[in-house]
Amino acid sequence: MRLILLGPPGAGKGTQSGRLKEKYHIPQLSTGDMLRAAVEARTPIGLKAKPIMTQGGLVPDEIVVGIIAERIQEPDAKAGFILDGFPRTVHQAEALAQILRSKNINLDAVIELKVDVAALVARMKQRIKDTLANGGTARADDNPEAFKTRLSAYREETAPVSDFYARLGLLKTVDGMAPVDCVTQSIDRILENRIPPAA
Ligand code: ADP
Repeated sequence: MRLILLGPPGAGKGTQSGRLKEKYHIPQLSTGDMLRAAVEARTPIGLKAKPIMTQGGLVPDEIVVGIIAERIQEPDAKAGFILDGFPRTVHQAEALAQILRSKNINLDAVIELKVDVAALVARMKQRIKDTLANGGTARADDNPEAFKTRLSAYREETAPVSDFYARLGLLKTVDGMAPVDCVTQSIDRILENRIPPAA
């Protein structure tokens, strides 16, 4: 199973990817997590990405494409993977298509979580509260200003990625405003091919 989850920040991609990972025993490849690990480890990529991520901007395509190209070659990703947070630009989607083509690999589905923008800010604030309540540290980019930048990056750069996959007939849409378990069920139904793809 090779999947892409699309959706704005706070749409629930991470939560759903985590569930899909358990169900299909395939790795969840989150470029956000990988970049945060690079920042933490102070690698050259991490040092470059840090200020961009803190502000809520997009890390350059060649960096994330390089990370993903390497990651999907790891043994655990041979049988499948869930891409969470990648591709985020049409250029990244094109680069991914080329990588997959060279390996004779096809995507099974691209699932977009549709959510109201107004709800996203509330979700981001809730995520901060939950993290702090659990003794964690809030993400550097989970603050109203960076979040605004992340949302506009999504609108300008990532929304066209949905059109890119729609044109290829791969895009399926689920209502990301539904309760978490309902979203999971909708995704399961799509993957089990029990319902036709959304128009
Ligand atoms: P969210 O979806 O909640 O915004 P992520 O964890 O997916 O969070 O990403 C956090 C940040 O990492 C992004 O705002 C961006 O700076 C960087 N990032 C992650 N994936 C990509 C990508 N594919 N292209 C460019 N930047 C990325």
